[in-house]
Amino acid sequence: MDTIQIKDKKFTISIKEQDILAEVARVANEINRDLAGKNPLFLSVLNGSFMFTADLMKHITIPCEVSFVKLASYQGVSSTGVIKEVIGITEDLTDRTVVIVEDIVDTGLTMQRLLENLGTRNPKEILIASLLVKPDKLKVDLNIEYVAMKIPNDFIVGYGLDYDGFGRNYSDIYTVVED
Ligand code: 5GP
Repeated sequence: MDTIQIKDKKFTISIKEQDILAEVARVANEINRDLAGKNPLFLSVLNGSFMFTADLMKHITIPCEVSFVKLASYQGVSSTGVIKEVIGITEDLTDRTVVIVEDIVDTGLTMQRLLENLGTRNPKEILIASLLVKPDKLKVDLNIEYVAMKIPNDFIVGYGLDYDGFGRNYSDIYTVVED
């Protein structure tokens, strides 16, 4: 399937599953090498990173834990508008090496908020593993240690990522076709 329709938008295939999986395996090997002996805790950010997390973890061979968090958006009373609250952390992060597993870093604002939140829980270190990064859209200074693929600014779906809730199930990544 080279093109798909989701609601009002057409998407065309841009990254094939086999290419995604090769990059995910490369990232896993880098993590195995860098974090050996550190018993990292992988914190997967739902919903978008469920497929990435599953494929990544199949290649992680060092002792580790995996857990899942969600970011709940709500309109805050502060002038900054939308605030994202981290829900679902049951683990004690004190002195842990934490690896955030995220689907995509766009402006980086979501990741910055997450880092601020997790940083208050006394971890030893926090590292970021992102499936995708849009480097031209980054608005904040972020150190993303592990990146599977860098992509242009276009909106994408598939491999866990959605358009209005749909499209997460595709094993390839598709880019929106502007008309
Ligand atoms: P940021 O705070 O970095 O601007 O946005 C990060 C979030 O925006 C991601 O976790 C994801 O939910 C969403 N996002 C950004 N770009 C895309 C995209 O191209 N496709 C999809 N499906 N979601 C995106």
